[in-house]
Amino acid sequence: MNVLIINAGSSSLKYQLMNPETGEVSAKGLCERIGIDGRLNHKVGEEKVVKDIPMPTHSEAIAATLEILQDAEVGVIKSVDEIDAVGHRVLHGGMEFFASCVINDDVIAAIKKCIPLGPLHNPANLMGIEACQAVMPKTPQVAVFDTAFHMTMPPKAYRYAIPTEYYENDSIRRYGFHGTSHKYVAKRTAELIGKKEFKMVNCHLGNGSSMAAIKDGKCQDTTMGLSPLAGVPMGTRSGDIDACVVQFICNKYGMSVDDCLNMLNKKSGVLALSGVSSDFRDLEDGAKKGDENCALARDKFCYEVAKYVGAYAAALNGIDVLTFTAGVGENDTAVRAAVCEYLSFMGVKIDPELNSKRGKEMKISTPDSTVEVWVVPTNEELMIAQDTAELVK
Ligand code: AMP
Repeated sequence: MNVLIINAGSSSLKYQLMNPETGEVSAKGLCERIGIDGRLNHKVGEEKVVKDIPMPTHSEAIAATLEILQDAEVGVIKSVDEIDAVGHRVLHGGMEFFASCVINDDVIAAIKKCIPLGPLHNPANLMGIEACQAVMPKTPQVAVFDTAFHMTMPPKAYRYAIPTEYYENDSIRRYGFHGTSHKYVAKRTAELIGKKEFKMVNCHLGNGSSMAAIKDGKCQDTTMGLSPLAGVPMGTRSGDIDACVVQFICNKYGMSVDDCLNMLNKKSGVLALSGVSSDFRDLEDGAKKGDENCALARDKFCYEVAKYVGAYAAALNGIDVLTFTAGVGENDTAVRAAVCEYLSFMGVKIDPELNSKRGKEMKISTPDSTVEVWVVPTNEELMIAQDTAELVK
C-alpha cells in the first residue's frame, strides 16, 4: 500500500510517499515559495532534485508533486492510481474532531468551522486537501488532526477558569498540539515496555515543545492550550505567561494585541533569553564558551520541563515512564540529563553512558530508577500513514 502524506503550510507543502505497513518512505519532498514563484525539492534515497516550477497556488504544487512522483528518472510510481490514499495533517480539529477521519463535504465544512481557532494553518491545510481532491478525485483522503489525541482530557484539564460563555459560545478551552507525535510515542512506548496500562509523561522537545500526561494510552493533560503558544518556553515562543504582560506591553508601547502576540510567538522563548539563537545547539556552544544568557536559556527550559513532569506526576498520581522525543529530546543529551537531575527527588535516575547516545530508541534509566526513562524518536508521518491506511481499508 502507498499513502501520500501531505503537510500543507501557507506557502509550502511537504510530502512523503510511505508504505504504512513497513514505514518505508519511497520518496519525499518540499514545495516551497507557493504563491511567490515556486520551487520543488524532491528526494529519492540519496538522490536530490531541485526544480523551479511556477506554483501560483497549492493546486500547482500538488500537480508538480504528482508529476515528479511519476517521473521516468526520479519518480517511484508509474501512475497516480498507485497512490491508495492521501493523509493530510490538519492543525486544529477544535471540538469537532476526536480522531482522524475520511474527508467528505461535512468534514471540510467542519475544518472550515475551526478556522477561527487555527487561523494560520487550517486555511492552508484546506488548500492542500482541495488541491488533492481536484487532481485525484477518486483517491480517498484522510484528515489527521494535531489536536485529536488530546480530546480524551477531562474537563478539569481542558477548561480555563474564565466565564463559561467563552467556552460555550466560542469553544475557548485547552486543546493541545503535537497530538500525532504524542500518540505515536505513547503507542511505541507501550510496545517497548510490553504493557498497555501504565502512566507516562511524554516530552516532545523541539523548536516547538509540548508535554503530555498519558494514562493507558489516553491523554489526560497537555501543556499547549487554545494555541501552541502555551506551556514550556520554546525556540521562539514564550510558553506560559501572565495575560497582564500583554496588557502592559500594549499600553506602554502602543502595540496592537496582534503585534504583541507575534512577539510572544516569534521573538521570545530561548531566542529572547539567550539573545543568540533559537537553536539548542547554538545555545550549548554559547554556554560552553561562558555565555551566561545561553546558559540561562537552557536552564530555564530544563527547569520548566521538569516542573511540568512534577505537575503531571501529581495529576496522574505517579508515573511509570518518562519519554523524550523530537529534535531536542532525541539529541540534546545535556537537556535530558538536566531535566532528570531536577527530578532526582522522585527517584528518577539515568545512566550517563546510555544517555550519551543521540537519536536512538533506547531506555536510558538505571535499573534502580523509580521511573523508566526512554528516548523514543517520533515518527508523525508513520502515524499519519497508519491512521490513513486503517480508515480506508
Ligand atoms: P524539531 O522541531 O523537532 O525539528 O527540533 C529542532 C531542534 O532540535 C533544533 O532547534 C535544535 O536545537 C535541536 N537539535 C537537533 N539536533 C540536535 C543535536 N544533535 N543536539 C542538540 N539539539 C539538536
